[in-house]
Amino acid sequence: MPLLGCVADDFTGATDLASTLVRGGMSAVQVIGVPEGPLPEADAVVVALKSRTNPPADAVRDSLAALDALRDAGCRQFFFKYCSTFDSTDEGNIGPVADALLERLGAGFALACPAFPANGRSVYRGHLFVGDVLLSESGMKDHPLTPMRDPNLVRVLGRQTAGRVGLVNFPVVERGAGAIRDAMAALATEGHRYAIVDAVTEADLMAIGEAAAEHPMLTGGSGVAMGLPENFRRQGLLPARDAAALPTRRGHKAVLAGSCSRATLGQVAAARASLPVLELDPLATPDAAALARQALDWAEARLGEVPVVIAASAPPEKVAALQAQLGRGDAGALVEEALATVAEGLVARGVGQLVVAGGETSGAVVSRLGLRTLRIGPEIDPGVPWTHAEGASGGLHLALKSGNFGAADFFTNAFQGE
Ligand code: ADP
Repeated sequence: MPLLGCVADDFTGATDLASTLVRGGMSAVQVIGVPEGPLPEADAVVVALKSRTNPPADAVRDSLAALDALRDAGCRQFFFKYCSTFDSTDEGNIGPVADALLERLGAGFALACPAFPANGRSVYRGHLFVGDVLLSESGMKDHPLTPMRDPNLVRVLGRQTAGRVGLVNFPVVERGAGAIRDAMAALATEGHRYAIVDAVTEADLMAIGEAAAEHPMLTGGSGVAMGLPENFRRQGLLPARDAAALPTRRGHKAVLAGSCSRATLGQVAAARASLPVLELDPLATPDAAALARQALDWAEARLGEVPVVIAASAPPEKVAALQAQLGRGDAGALVEEALATVAEGLVARGVGQLVVAGGETSGAVVSRLGLRTLRIGPEIDPGVPWTHAEGASGGLHLALKSGNFGAADFFTNAFQGE
């Protein structure tokens, strides 16, 4: 029976959370979309929704459906995961979703802590910092969907909920788990529904996690989940074992790159030194089926011992040229459609180990392959684990990389070992 049930408001955020829990010694699976049927066995189940920027009513409906499935499976504690930059608007969706989940659980209080020190996100005196600047001075102020122009999270969350929002500030957090627990209990007694909790270091996050051991639900970034495995271990519920164990990787190896982020462009360039690389040219062939055919013909002759790399990734001027020709949305959709078709074709040709670069690209591939559940394995680079989708002929190993993640040698490094 799972111990921890999580609802994440986007796909890569769900992977990040699941990977954090695995590092802490909990086995974890990521379920894509509202679960249908019985949940797979794991200590933690993370449901990945796409609810960050939906209309609030849709986000609430999907989140409640996910919660119901997690409750039915027997989870003891729940976690609502959002972005470490608190991506939301005055309409939601953090407040409305958290309100609905608390109500369904019959609970009156939850902490809210997006801090993620390893990625430079810290909360001090209720204010969220990105590196050395306030959230409102970071790139997030110009985000196309969720511009963040107020760094005071007590105010930000306060605008999204009818409940009262309080603060457990750093001088309290510094005194450790007992002081944090008492401060949260006092806020709850005074009628607060939420407490923003300051956190600057991973030690703070561990203390906050310990302080919330008895809370029915926590809300936050993946950072604050760091402290949760230890709670279950302390209760004797988490046996010592390799939580990151996956079946042995098998089958041909391939990389699909649809991200045009700087890190991915560097990884494609680095791969050229040692691997066969095909660069697709959607400008010359603006036809998804034709592009996919080219890629599969090229790959067919090369699949074998070394990984093949198929990249649509292109520098900004090339991306702009295709967008000028087709429009921004259609350009992205064309490339995503092509790469999803290539993924399907590669799996049909015996690829069993597939790395995909790009968040939207990963979404397109997972959806085309009809994958519903990914078991989370060991990390290749921070935030990017190998995952395994069960299925016919040994299933499929996938590493889904958000565009800007990973070191320069990610595409070769991913296949080391085994
Ligand atoms: P990231 O994680 O870096 O944001 P995504 O996969 O989320 O990567 O987004 C990259 C987008 O760019 C996708 O929609 C992809 O289809 C599109 N794309 C990839 N290659 C090209 C290209 N050569 N021209 C235009 N768009 C492209």
